[in-house]
Amino acid sequence: MIGMSFADALFGILALWLLFLAILWLRELNRIRNFEWHLSNSRLFHCDQCHHSFIIKEPLNLCRCPRCNAICISRNRRNLE
Ligand SMILES: [Zn+2]
Repeated sequence: MIGMSFADALFGILALWLLFLAILWLRELNRIRNFEWHLSNSRLFHCDQCHHSFIIKEPLNLCRCPRCNAICISRNRRNLE
């Protein structure tokens, strides 16, 4: 038989539950940080063919338009950096 009182078992369950909630909270904070959008001119693209403006996740020089799949070139990067 395990020498543990009811209060100790209840405290253990409560401590495990708080640890579980803390892990879920940190996981959610990490997920929000990874999928967060950052607005800047280097991430804003404008398609010359369909005139669609869109934001990309990572700053690149070239990307494809999500609407018409044309290649878009960033012209603002030289001015900012
Ligand atoms: Zn386009």
